[in-house]
Amino acid sequence: MSWKVIQDRVVPRCSGTTAKVDKGQILRIIEHEGKQVLDLTFLNAHNHKESFATELSAILNSMQGTGGYYRLKTLYSKPPFENVMATVVDDKVGDGARGGVRAGHFMAGHCSRQLVALRGIPGARSCSDNLKDAFAEIGLRQEDCYDPSIFNVWMQSWIDDNGGMNWARPLAEVGDYIDFRADMDLVAVLSICPTEFNACNDFKAKALRFQVIETEGAK
Ligand SMILES: [Zn+2]
Repeated sequence: MSWKVIQDRVVPRCSGTTAKVDKGQILRIIEHEGKQVLDLTFLNAHNHKESFATELSAILNSMQGTGGYYRLKTLYSKPPFENVMATVVDDKVGDGARGGVRAGHFMAGHCSRQLVALRGIPGARSCSDNLKDAFAEIGLRQEDCYDPSIFNVWMQSWIDDNGGMNWARPLAEVGDYIDFRADMDLVAVLSICPTEFNACNDFKAKALRFQVIETEGAK
């Protein structure tokens, strides 16, 4: 089996972008400067209406014993499609060894205009702005895409006994990575979360790195 890196990019802090990942290729997300989360979703490269369904994937992975709201093995698209879009094939942080039950990711929403306003910093940049820029790269408007729920890579969040959401510093360290194998031709949509008002980026927004890897032979 041979692996060949065909794209290797450092994405600046507080920005959004897209990456084409063809069927069989690996999207590797790499912790580049320390504890930084990524808000990630996927679109079918040939039908942008078919997008990743976070909660549906969490439920299906729960039923399959392969994950849930804190990690996923199989990423499904939203109804009416419900196809397997991608498979997590390597996840050193999310395998539970470091984080126990919470495992090191969170399947939920992203920061937005209302959220930063509630934090007392109205007008501050949010993942919503990053995602808008990312969608624009491929000629799409955010209002025509589904992004309220995403894969919060390395976000240490959980729901407490009162039903509230909590944040802690990511478990990921520099050099940690997670590999997604594309099971169809995909566009990955990435937001390098700008949040600095809570622990999700360890109070400092940083850059992130990704690679697209061509593989020969199954992993
Ligand atoms: Zn964010």
